[in-house]
Amino acid sequence: MNFIKEFEEKVKNNIEEYNLANKKDKIMVACSGGKDSTATLYLLKKFGYNVEALIIDLLIGDWSDKSLENVKTFCKKYKIKLHVINMRKEFGSSICHIRSSVQSKTKLSDCAICGVIKRWLLNKKARELKAVKLATGHNLDDEVETILMNNFKGNPGLNINLGPKTGIVNSKKFIQRIKPLYFLTNKEIKKYSIAMKFPVMYEPCPCSKAAFRNDVRKFISDMEKQYPKIKINIIENFLRIRDDLRKSYKSDKKLKSCEICNEPSRKNICRRCELIQILK
Ligand code: SF4
Ligand SMILES: [Zn+2]
Repeated sequence: MNFIKEFEEKVKNNIEEYNLANKKDKIMVACSGGKDSTATLYLLKKFGYNVEALIIDLLIGDWSDKSLENVKTFCKKYKIKLHVINMRKEFGSSICHIRSSVQSKTKLSDCAICGVIKRWLLNKKARELKAVKLATGHNLDDEVETILMNNFKGNPGLNINLGPKTGIVNSKKFIQRIKPLYFLTNKEIKKYSIAMKFPVMYEPCPCSKAAFRNDVRKFISDMEKQYPKIKINIIENFLRIRDDLRKSYKSDKKLKSCEICNEPSRKNICRRCELIQILK
């Protein structure tokens, strides 16, 4: 089997084996203009799923402009409905402005702040657009890094939310996340994206200074030279113990509604609203 066929088969098998979606589900794909989310969108469409695309214009200068342009070109070519969320319209300012204001009062990293805002917006918009699944471009490398980061930081309980689809959250307001590229590596996706000539940017976001994640990535890549199957071994082991992990760490508490924005939250006030309060 050639590389493209093999790649696509792997994604298809993951969707079917983990029952990520069915053909009737409306799936919103969270796009960034990068290779992972573009491949996710392309393959879900190719396999006949009911997909639409959602992108947040983060207003990170030329990088955001180019990303948005790429997603628009792609969606036009493949006749996919695209929804654009504009940060200024939603939050009154760019993500860069929000980040620097929050960072003048806390030690939170760029990606931690941006991640909270993006998750909140994507969930809310996907729900408003009546999607029942939110597909992301997370791949095997992302997942291995997160599993190790949580373990290294002494927070293995955070791993219960990982896997090809989110599984423990019980709330009508929370849109289930699915990861069709779960078993594909960064390298494989890049090779696929180049072969498919997707209009994407391969440069990382200019704000991405995730020092800890970069250290963990380097650690894995060094180990991989000696133990080539390390990534898939970590994932397979994680999936084997995930149910037990979920039983051990599962909180009985159901998701609440944030007292300020009414969005799903584990605490009385959601993380996004906590950040907004810091700004005041
Ligand atoms: S790399 Fe970090 S700052 Fe850039 S878009 Fe992603 S989460 Fe946001
Ligand atoms: Zn809130």
